Amino acid sequence: MFDLIIIGAGPAGLTASIYASRYRLKHLVIGKEVGGIATETSEIGNYPGFPMITGPELMQKFSEHAKSLGTEILTEEVVKLRKIENGFEVETASGSTFQTKSIILAVGLKRRRLNVPGESEFTGRGVSYCATCDAWFYKDKTVCVIGGSDSAAVAALTLAQFAKKVYIIYRRDKMRCEPIWMEKIEENDKIEIVYNTNVTEIIGKDKVEAVRLDNPYKGSDLLKLDGVFVEIGFVPGLELASELGIETNEKGYIKIDAHGATNVPGVFAAGDITTGSDDLRQIITAAAEGAIASYSAFKYVKGKR
Ligand code: NAP
Repeated sequence: MFDLIIIGAGPAGLTASIYASRYRLKHLVIGKEVGGIATETSEIGNYPGFPMITGPELMQKFSEHAKSLGTEILTEEVVKLRKIENGFEVETASGSTFQTKSIILAVGLKRRRLNVPGESEFTGRGVSYCATCDAWFYKDKTVCVIGGSDSAAVAALTLAQFAKKVYIIYRRDKMRCEPIWMEKIEENDKIEIVYNTNVTEIIGKDKVEAVRLDNPYKGSDLLKLDGVFVEIGFVPGLELASELGIETNEKGYIKIDAHGATNVPGVFAAGDITTGSDDLRQIITAAAEGAIASYSAFKYVKGKR
């Protein structure tokens, strides 16, 4: 039986593992993708010690650090959690099961979908959710980014390195990204912001050719382009939490206390999926929550909590 199973291999899960290794907890990390959604960020400028680093590079460093301390990472999806005597059973998509005394849920969030006609149909054929992954396909093309916060800003700046024109289409009248991103956008001649506008349809034949707008732009409700990047935030995936009766808030984020503990004894949570860190969902706050949850799991396993 493991002392601890960490579900999720992003910044929170990998940090939890670094601490668990140093606490000499017998543990396993199970995650769909090492580094998680942080690997899809092209520029990170607010992680101390790294004035500018890409998401893949920073996550590689997290993973190497964890592995140097002996972390074992199983790249699989966890599909079921069960309460058993003295702990929990964790089942993965391939049917493997593992028993553990404690769990840290660090599963992160899912990308929010726009839910307009054409979005599903053209996903992978002009509709993308990852500028870092797909920007180079749009060299000298015209694209739009939908959204008005940090992800949209970073995506637009990434795309502007390749595309000839980048529209940001945002439903309000003022971007709400970090001011440092706004300054870079304003300095970039390729980026134009279309405010007070929603995309209501994505149109094309074999691939994306245009988007329909609810507020005509330059006299037309059709904007011709080659790619649509949806950057409208993230939502929690509830399935695993609900199986164990873990309490969430009204938006579906796992409620934790100052120790990273959920309402279920032995289950801790960390990172974007929690109500911790005052809703500031950053790599540094995920890492900090991972450390706290690991410390709490250590105390729980040793009977000190
Ligand atoms: P976010 O901060 O939740 O913002 C989502 C954006 O999408 C908002 O502008 C929102 O509009 C818009 N939106 C939501 N639903 C929409 C819909 N159905 N139709 C059109 N627009 C919609 O998400 P995020 O930008 O992905 O960022 C997530 C977290 O990661 C945040 O905490 C962010 O600070 C962090 N992050 C930080 C950085 C960084 O460099 N520091 C980079 C990327 C992400 P409203 O404004 O009207 O709500």
